[in-house]
Amino acid sequence: MMDTQRTYRIAAIPGDGIGQEVIPAGLDVLAAAAERDGGFKFQVETFDWGSERFLARGAMMPEGGLDRLRGFDAIYFGSAGDPRVPDHLSLWGLRLAICQPLDLYANVRPARLLPGVRSPLRAGTASNLDWVIVRENSEGEYAGAGGRVHRGLAQEVGLDVSVFTRDGVDRIQRFALELARRRPAKRLTLVTKSNAQRHGMVLWDEVFEEVRQDFPDIATDKMLVDAMTTRMVLDPASLDTIVATNLHADVLSDLAAALTGSIGIAPTANLDPARRAPSMFEPIHGSAFDIMGKGIANPIGAFWSGVMLLEHLGEGAAAKALMTAIEQVTGRGEVLPRDLGGTAATQAVTDAVRAALAGKNI
Ligand code: ATP
Repeated sequence: MMDTQRTYRIAAIPGDGIGQEVIPAGLDVLAAAAERDGGFKFQVETFDWGSERFLARGAMMPEGGLDRLRGFDAIYFGSAGDPRVPDHLSLWGLRLAICQPLDLYANVRPARLLPGVRSPLRAGTASNLDWVIVRENSEGEYAGAGGRVHRGLAQEVGLDVSVFTRDGVDRIQRFALELARRRPAKRLTLVTKSNAQRHGMVLWDEVFEEVRQDFPDIATDKMLVDAMTTRMVLDPASLDTIVATNLHADVLSDLAAALTGSIGIAPTANLDPARRAPSMFEPIHGSAFDIMGKGIANPIGAFWSGVMLLEHLGEGAAAKALMTAIEQVTGRGEVLPRDLGGTAATQAVTDAVRAALAGKNI
């Protein structure tokens, strides 16, 4: 019989800490979603890149590793970070070593309160919390510009230079406006710190004034990042789509994850909207060394990242089915991981989502 299934090649990089636990769990539910759909299948290759490799061989990933990734349809990433390796080496040696050269410039982070999950916000305040944070993912504070001179002397200098280009700002703001257009609220908030950072951030404001003219159907407003933290906590329903620089959005999305119940559920996608390179999908959380190896990590952040991976591949029906399965499990409240107030192990949550996918109610 001829094989008519669409096949997607996935590069899985579990990385460090609980990445080793949640990525295999995520691959399990992705396989179950494909099986349920019947129209496609995955071919997965797993890479042992990460801090163990760094400690053994001096590099997080091998030479030529990046080129091996280019042939895949998507990258499914766990986390990079190990107490035995300085954080800047693990971050720049793996996650940024992939995202920067592949130019995955749009980092998309949905934040929504799932059924059955409690927010630390005042009762009722978070019930209509439904945001997408768009993080500029290629320049700004993470451009890598800067240096250290006079090391060890009293006059030692450390410089991190934020780099903003008109092209880079324009493309991320357009991406965010287009994303806002696909959502019912059609609202976008621009976050900067243009009162204090009076060069790059003012460029963000100026470009925004131009770009938003092409999107007259989108309601826009602007916030300074400090005031934004207050608004996220006190008036979450007033926000919908949010765009911010690399560093600002990094911080805001951890806050968003906490407000929606736990950092353990939050997903993210590092996209090349032009699709010249494979996009990368990963849970927001880090390697969580305090709970690694215990089998208790919440895999939902990895699962929801799998939903985004399916959406990006154009498998909308399977994406919807997997999201519904996740929501059925959290909504029933019988199998919740510890960070969501339950006692369920990673495997039990994985089994419950697989069972929901196989069930008739989806
Ligand atoms: P890294 O340095 O890699 O960013 P980290 O330990 O500083 O790692 P996180 O991994 O994000 O930061 O963890 C922050 C806290 O949240 C830890 O106490 C961790 O146990 C908890 N946590 C993170 N992810 C999960 C998860 N998936 N399930 C349960 N708890 C989690």
